[in-house]
Amino acid sequence: MGVKKTKIIKSIKVDADKCMGCRACEVACSAFHATPKYSSNNPARSRIRVIRHPLEDIYVPVYAGEYTPSECMGRNTYKIEGKEYDECAFCRASCPSRDLFKEPDSGLPLKCDMCESVPELDEPLCVKWCMVDALIYEEREVEVDEDEEDVKMEEMEAGIESLVDKYGLQKVADILARKSQKS
Ligand code: SF4
Ligand code: SF4
Repeated sequence: MGVKKTKIIKSIKVDADKCMGCRACEVACSAFHATPKYSSNNPARSRIRVIRHPLEDIYVPVYAGEYTPSECMGRNTYKIEGKEYDECAFCRASCPSRDLFKEPDSGLPLKCDMCESVPELDEPLCVKWCMVDALIYEEREVEVDEDEEDVKMEEMEAGIESLVDKYGLQKVADILARKSQKS
């Protein structure tokens, strides 16, 4: 059996009933991830997006999850308490069927990183700026194998995979080869 270590799992619970669709979370997230930090804000760059249908009183905050190179084959429509939600409403994937969770200029996938930064924040910015507590930050400890793949590594792989899908393996390999010669 491998050696175990403790890992903190961070998560955000969404209470959609409390969300009023103000989009402060989108503004805060995009500002935090701007370069330099807080230099601009553009909800299209946010890693949380609020699905809004004001006439039907529907507001559902959704976090950007994994990148996927292809669309799924089957989709579901959800009807909850008389309200009908779009087929892709709750999906967190950055996928080719929609513009959600893609960097608008480059088309690269966006994924929530829980506002990782040094020094660490007390709580993610979207949680901090949600004034009605529709977003609740939680941490829990779990035991994992010591050699478990680093999350950062997985994110990097997803980024490279999307570049390969977009520009082709040869082009990406050529750029990496050029970079490695320079360094
Ligand atoms: S936790 Fe941070 S990165 Fe994730 S959606 Fe909220 S503000 Fe954006
Ligand atoms: S800040 Fe809170 S209330 Fe406003 S849209 Fe985001 S989740 Fe909803």
